[in-house]
Amino acid sequence: MVKKRTCNIDACGREAVRSLASDRVERSGLKVEGEKRAYLCKQHYKEFKKRTKKDRKIERLKWGI
Ligand SMILES: [Zn+2]
Repeated sequence: MVKKRTCNIDACGREAVRSLASDRVERSGLKVEGEKRAYLCKQHYKEFKKRTKKDRKIERLKWGI
């Protein structure tokens, strides 16, 4: 039997589709509960990708590249 994971983001609880290192997720500004791995549902994974993309853009601006 496969244990289903649920999304670790605060007050979400949907089915998780991705697992990532939680510190990476936290750096993107999403609040993760506990554990070393963060499990994200489809929606929060999308949000995570959006946020990390934004971060990269900000960094590029900062360094003037
Ligand atoms: Zn979620």
